[in-house]
Amino acid sequence: MHEFRYKRNYLYCEDLKVIDLARKFGTPLYVYSYKTILDHFLKLKVAFREINPLICYSVKANSNLAILRLLVKEGAGLDIVSGGELYRAIKVSCPSERIVYASVGKTDKEIEDAIRRRILFFNVESLSELESVNRISKKLNRITNVAIRINPAVEPKTHRFITTGSLSNKFGIDFQSAFKILKLRKRFKYLNLCGLHIHIGSQITEITPYISAIAKIVNFIRKLKKERVSLEYLNIGGGLGIVYDKETPQTAQEFAERVLPLLKKTELKIILEPGRFIVGNAGILITQVLYIKSTSKKKFIIVDSGMNDLIRPALYGAYHKILPLHITPTAVQKVDVVGPICESADFFAKDRSMPKLKQNDFLAIMSAGAYAFSMSSNYNSRPRALELLVKGDKVYIIRERENYNDLIDREVIPDFLK
Ligand code: PLP
Repeated sequence: MHEFRYKRNYLYCEDLKVIDLARKFGTPLYVYSYKTILDHFLKLKVAFREINPLICYSVKANSNLAILRLLVKEGAGLDIVSGGELYRAIKVSCPSERIVYASVGKTDKEIEDAIRRRILFFNVESLSELESVNRISKKLNRITNVAIRINPAVEPKTHRFITTGSLSNKFGIDFQSAFKILKLRKRFKYLNLCGLHIHIGSQITEITPYISAIAKIVNFIRKLKKERVSLEYLNIGGGLGIVYDKETPQTAQEFAERVLPLLKKTELKIILEPGRFIVGNAGILITQVLYIKSTSKKKFIIVDSGMNDLIRPALYGAYHKILPLHITPTAVQKVDVVGPICESADFFAKDRSMPKLKQNDFLAIMSAGAYAFSMSSNYNSRPRALELLVKGDKVYIIRERENYNDLIDREVIPDFLK
């Protein structure tokens, strides 16, 4: 479900005609729907209401402050992976006891800042990290909550770049090593080893990998209980897939129905870390056709957004629907939709059937709410796009368009070159 629909041949976001936004604010332009973000968050909350989990939205999916604030106001916590994301969490007044911190490579400074902030817990990914958190906690004379991220060795059947729960990935600790650590937990005097964490990958559209990972962790918890190792939290990560094209992912309700019986057995407080599920289909990227170019082999639609704005097609070969902002009756043609950047990977669609387009037409690249703006860059010295949030018939700028000065603001020419 999302709030981008055609009415009388024009694409709307909630109650606003997107073409009016494109004309007023220019392109490339990100447009997010408030109602869609909220709806997806509430769908998860309702589906899991029986166990009242803490839903920590995964900041990396889309880290705009307005989006974080919207979710925090609704009661969400935040899943962070860096000092920068902690800074954002603080800026939106996320209560510390609703922040969890993952990442295989936390620096001492990042760890110290998060301990000082008294976050709910760290998701620790290696023995050496555990030692660091213990050492820094000792220095600060604090007992720090820690969950061990388990690598459950399951294949989530998603793109290999977004698989994280198999042993050939850098993430987490295997069951055997985690068992040893937990048995020896008293060694870590400044840690409260109070939870377990799994996150097996992203854009997972089948329930089976989740079931097998959760079943494994539930067994592990049972084994730990027998050894008198008791825990408080189980964090089952994120990864719920969404519809980009023809996928048929589980709904929040279906997901909850399948995993709740397993989760209830643990009697632990459950944490979820969804990112894409909440924002993926709540955003679109608007772009304008610059040129139409034909070669003997192809027809290219060259648009004013590039891989610097949305890298998913270049990075993962990801599919995004591309729709005109205004439908007119025309013939269909096969085209490549490409950006202006000097890389052959700078494309949004290949051999795609599209209505016949002309210069200056506007297009919406759909499902661009997650891992889109947050992965954007200034490559080719291109200022980052403007971001808008639409709520009903109101529109809010939630990030100004960057300008050329922003591009060079921190660069310095040394005196000897002047
Ligand atoms: N939790 C962790 C530890 C992650 O690494 C990620 C993303 O990779 C997420 C949660 C969010 O994943 P998704 O956006 O697929 O829900």
